Amino acid sequence: AQAQIGVTGLAVMGANLARNLARHGHAVAVHNRSQSRTKALMEQHGDEGTFVACETPEELVAALERPRRILIMVKAGAPTDAVIEEFAPLLEPGDMLVDGGNAHFLDTRRREAALRERGIHFVGAGVSGGEEGALLGPSIMPGGSRESYEALGPLLEDIAAKVDGVPCCTHIGPDGAGHFVKMVHNGIEYADMQLIAEAYDLLRQGLGLSPAELADVFEEWNKGELSSYLIEITAEVLRQVDATTGRPLVDVIADRAEQKGTGRWTVQIALDLGVPVSGIAEAVFARSVSGHADLREAARGLPGPSGVPAGPVGEGFAEDVRRALYASKIIAYAQGFDQIRAGSAEYGWDVDPGSLATIWRGGCIIRAVFLDRIREAYEGETPPVTLLTAPLFAEALGLAQDSWRRVVAKAAELGIPAPGFSTALAYYDSLRAERLPAALIQGQRDFFGAHTYQRTDREGSFHTLWSGDRTEIGA
Ligand code: NDP
Repeated sequence: AQAQIGVTGLAVMGANLARNLARHGHAVAVHNRSQSRTKALMEQHGDEGTFVACETPEELVAALERPRRILIMVKAGAPTDAVIEEFAPLLEPGDMLVDGGNAHFLDTRRREAALRERGIHFVGAGVSGGEEGALLGPSIMPGGSRESYEALGPLLEDIAAKVDGVPCCTHIGPDGAGHFVKMVHNGIEYADMQLIAEAYDLLRQGLGLSPAELADVFEEWNKGELSSYLIEITAEVLRQVDATTGRPLVDVIADRAEQKGTGRWTVQIALDLGVPVSGIAEAVFARSVSGHADLREAARGLPGPSGVPAGPVGEGFAEDVRRALYASKIIAYAQGFDQIRAGSAEYGWDVDPGSLATIWRGGCIIRAVFLDRIREAYEGETPPVTLLTAPLFAEALGLAQDSWRRVVAKAAELGIPAPGFSTALAYYDSLRAERLPAALIQGQRDFFGAHTYQRTDREGSFHTLWSGDRTEIGA
């Protein structure tokens, strides 16, 4: 029998996706550069469905029905190019190469264009959900041609997570759209994690709650509007006790957050597109700060707040923090969706933000009840310019804002860093503001660089003769 799909790259992600495909009744041809991985998969899981073990790319290609569908799950970067170069010469026009790795979308655009010349469909597909998601149902964000999605969609939708019977997989848009969207997904994930970490820190330092007590708090929060995978696992991490020391594990783990790069990419690209994703940027920088042992060591002795804070941290603080977290989360997601819309416009992808919210409801790391609200916000005739003004979110922000302000003020007073909460609130207040001090910046720019400014009352560009008689001239 010919296999319906091939998987090359059988480390944890590839192996689990291959098993997921096989468990759904698809015959899967499997291949890996080092044969030991192929052997291990066959030995441990060969009975879970129909696998065709292949030792070489040629064998894999020969094992597949046409048009061929090959899923590449290797280390992102140069290895992906190497694997493409290995397979492309063996393929025929109409065949499909799917890259499910965490590729940069600009690489995906380059690869797609090059393979299109050779008649091969190249599909960059973002896959979220980690290894468990890969096996049990990930969220899948495929880019590439619509034509290739017709052939791939049914297989991918089959193995994707389902929410209310709807698969967490949809065609995102041409060429690099899938990987772009996956990148921003990860950026949002960074922001969400940072905000949760700040909430934990504020409650721990502000209220003196223990990790175990905080686990209860997060478990409680997980029953309401914050209900999400990240809040759920936060409770589990906080409850974990270290076997060797008997202390809460969170107190034994080194406080240096690492990153693989997708958060950084999100911010780099946001800067290029001119989209203010301050929540994501602060999250990336916060990880960076945590990792700078030298700076932290040097600065440790600097003074903190002197004297007693103005108001005691009272009972209501936990609820304030919960609301601040929700409000800040709305900001971070709104900014991420702004970036997706900007990317879609820049590259002509026509990405539907509502459908994204739909496929992120399950399978992926940021899965949350909240995404249903985002989906609803985009459902109307005219999509909101910013999610902040969608009625549901505008109302939520209005309800939360007093709490939010108290929390940010209290954090500053107590000397507890809350960059995510603070920047989110600043963004909210900036967008709300009738006037921004940007007018002064324009004045400064005109002063030192004759960069000109526009007026509120007349069309045109103007310059003041700062070093002359200070009269204004039209520029
Ligand atoms: P790794 O990223 O650790 O990559 C290991 C795999 O890449 C092995 O199969 C390895 O083959 C293969 N490989 C490396 N270099 C080459 C090369 N030059 N030629 C051929 N094959 C090569 O595996 P993961 O399973 O963790 O991830 C796979 C992809 O999925 C990555 O792009 C990753 O970013 C992405 N991803 C990972 C997630 C996760 O949670 N881990 C989540 C979502 C996406 P060999 O066995 O011969 O060394």
